[in-house]
Amino acid sequence: MGDRRRGPAQPEELARRRASRERDTQELTVQERESLRAQHWMRCPKCGVQLDEITFRGVKVDKCFGWRVGQVPGPSC
Ligand SMILES: [Zn+2]
Repeated sequence: MGDRRRGPAQPEELARRRASRERDTQELTVQERESLRAQHWMRCPKCGVQLDEITFRGVKVDKCFGWRVGQVPGPSC
């Protein structure tokens, strides 16, 4: 038995979360979905600044070089 807090989520939990999010998105109109996508595309989910694509150990990742909200100054997200 591993530590569930650190291990991967269980398949049942993932299915429950997926179903919940699908219900959420079904309530949105096409216009609302497009608006949300336009607002959040390549934006940091923690601080909202534009993300930069970098290569880390051979893998392309989206990196935030902004500051976390509430940290003055602090490490980047
Ligand atoms: Zn950020």
